Amino acid sequence: METYEKITNFIKKICNRDDVPLHEPVFWGNEKKYLLECIDTGYVSYLGEFVKRFEKMIVEFTGSSHAIAVVNGTAGLQVSLRVAGVNPGDEVITQPLTFVATANAICHCGANPVFIDVDMDTLGMSPESLRRFLNECTEVRNGKLCNKYTGKKISAVVPVHVFGHPCRIEEIIDVCSEYGLPVIEDAAEALGSWYKNRHCGTFGEIGILSFNGNKTVTTGGGGMILTNDSELAHKIYHLTTTAKVPHPYAYIHDEIAYNYRLPNVNAAIGVAQMEKINEILKNKRQTAMLYKQFCEEEKVKFITEPNHSKSNYWLNGIILENREERDKFLEYTNSNGVHTRPIWRLMHKLEMYKNCFKIDTPNSEWLEDRVVNIPSGVR
Ligand SMILES: *Cc1c(COP(=O)(O)O)cnc(C)c1O
Repeated sequence: METYEKITNFIKKICNRDDVPLHEPVFWGNEKKYLLECIDTGYVSYLGEFVKRFEKMIVEFTGSSHAIAVVNGTAGLQVSLRVAGVNPGDEVITQPLTFVATANAICHCGANPVFIDVDMDTLGMSPESLRRFLNECTEVRNGKLCNKYTGKKISAVVPVHVFGHPCRIEEIIDVCSEYGLPVIEDAAEALGSWYKNRHCGTFGEIGILSFNGNKTVTTGGGGMILTNDSELAHKIYHLTTTAKVPHPYAYIHDEIAYNYRLPNVNAAIGVAQMEKINEILKNKRQTAMLYKQFCEEEKVKFITEPNHSKSNYWLNGIILENREERDKFLEYTNSNGVHTRPIWRLMHKLEMYKNCFKIDTPNSEWLEDRVVNIPSGVR
């Protein structure tokens, strides 16, 4: 309890406030100016200059060949899975330790999530667990990779860069290429995170980012689909803009599609936020380094960026002794003005996903009982 009091006081001190939220957005720059400009142009929906500018800024920042702005990260994942060839009744491999949106997007395609384990250090999908599942639970039937136990076709893999910490994405992609599976990276939390000097979300066939209010950069609500494949980029653009066939005035659509493009109003905020991205990342890293040092001194386990990677430290996390200690910590901090929260309940423990196919996930279970997020917003 003494340690918890110390941590609480330390957080209040470095944040210079008595009531510390987990993560708040900051509007440091041209947000208001661009919003007014946007309204003055009359282009408030998806047509407009801010959308193009925002996409260009993301292309330049991430190094992705294409970036398509969408209404949110979940919708981005859904469309990405669909253009990658995920069909109703298929299975998509992902991790149980993630925000619920990952599994929801799979289900929005009519597909079923399959849960495999994560790595202890990255919290992201374990390439070994992936290989074990593919070796032991799948076989090729009529030219299709199928789950031997459910008979369902396996059509994609979705690893997650949890809290902005890059997962072992290259190894995951190597395993997937052996099996001919496309990788869709859930990089929703990883804007400003790099694995071996390459931005998260640019390794797989497709990657997605989120700009929800609690993420590193926000547009209120929003997302971005990243891909280096021009053909996929074209399909994504088409499918997110109601599949309208380009024409100066006629309304012709050639498939049942979505209205998922990001409105210009939201993009206006995004452009202003991206102008400050390096300052935001620097500030967040400083906070993480203060936590790291403090935790070393106090013998508390702090989650740091894995080898070969640079994390955006979106949400800082510590690992407590066990479930009881975690609950005591949550109770103490939250009743003393410091907002903390446990990592997500594992997906297969949620009512709607309890019957999904899964293999053993001991690391996920261990982490679920012990990981807690501490305040991580820009100070
Ligand atoms: C935030 C988040 C999403 C979804 O993004 P939204 O923009 O909120 O729809 C998906 N996956 C993960 C891991 C996230 O953290």
